[in-house]
Amino acid sequence: MISGKRLKRDEANRLWDLDLLALGATADRVRRRLNPAPRVTYVIDRNINYTNICVSGCRFCAFYRAPGAPDGYVLAWDELAAKLQELKDHGGSGVLLQGGLNPELGPDYYEKLIGCIRDAGLAVHGFSPPEVVYWANEWGLTIQEVIRRLIDAGLSSIPGGGAEILVDRVRRKISPNKCDSALWLEVMATAHRLGLKSSATMMFGHLETRAERTEHLLKIRDLQDETGGFTAFIPWTFQPGGTNLGGETLGAVEYLRTLAISRLVLDNVPHLQVSWVTQGPKVAQLALKFGADDFGSTMLEENVVAATGVGFRLPREEIESLIRQAGYEPQVRDHRYKISD
Ligand code: SF4
Repeated sequence: MISGKRLKRDEANRLWDLDLLALGATADRVRRRLNPAPRVTYVIDRNINYTNICVSGCRFCAFYRAPGAPDGYVLAWDELAAKLQELKDHGGSGVLLQGGLNPELGPDYYEKLIGCIRDAGLAVHGFSPPEVVYWANEWGLTIQEVIRRLIDAGLSSIPGGGAEILVDRVRRKISPNKCDSALWLEVMATAHRLGLKSSATMMFGHLETRAERTEHLLKIRDLQDETGGFTAFIPWTFQPGGTNLGGETLGAVEYLRTLAISRLVLDNVPHLQVSWVTQGPKVAQLALKFGADDFGSTMLEENVVAATGVGFRLPREEIESLIRQAGYEPQVRDHRYKISD
């Protein structure tokens, strides 16, 4: 795997039993082969959650509100404009846009939303496969037609959200109303073929087994072989606070183990991102020695993880300081992982 030899499924499954530090050292060597420059990238952006109204009711989600709930919202246009201006004042390049599956919002709303962000000179890194599948059903369009419409409005890339674990046994238990794993992959395949780049995520540490995490990684790797459209992989741990699913938070050791194994299995995905928003600054810094080469985003605003009670915030200066202390040069990128001049 250090040399680039591809891991088979049974070899990948055996990695879970290896010593943590040995795994980290091996993942770090692969990181240096794939990303030899001694730098760690990050993006200046904010997450804008345009609505929290959602009919999906995922059991791991503390963010959504059912239609009719008193604290359900759709972001007002003047609030959106203020958020965009604040982001520009901070030197941001784009917005990560994500919301619930809101039955009240039609295609005209989304076209206007994307247009406002583009008109402000910011890139739209928006939505997720479950949103696209929901709209295709609601609007009577194919997945390709929905994505084409979003591209025509100005969408520039898609975040890899809503993947959770790409195994339907798990999805039926934690998010029974959301698209299945095949549809998640179909949306990404379609987006890639239409020229969009995307990231891919994995939310783990709930009901899945380690072998199901491996299965998730292999599905991402297989699609990447076909399309080459994934820019980065972002594994993060389930945060149980305020959710229907509940349970314990997975610790840093299992997070780092999973991160390292992700680097070793995903030999064709260029970048691996730390999740400081769930792990905090110190574990995120350590993660740079377990295969990661990207520090994610400054997240001027984040609401979904914050709804679980996990409140890590990192200003840009602290992100740069953490990267430097770990021995790398910080480098700003955009949502397509293009390095700024
Ligand atoms: S994770 Fe997304 S789709 Fe699921 S309930 Fe929360 S907002 Fe809705």
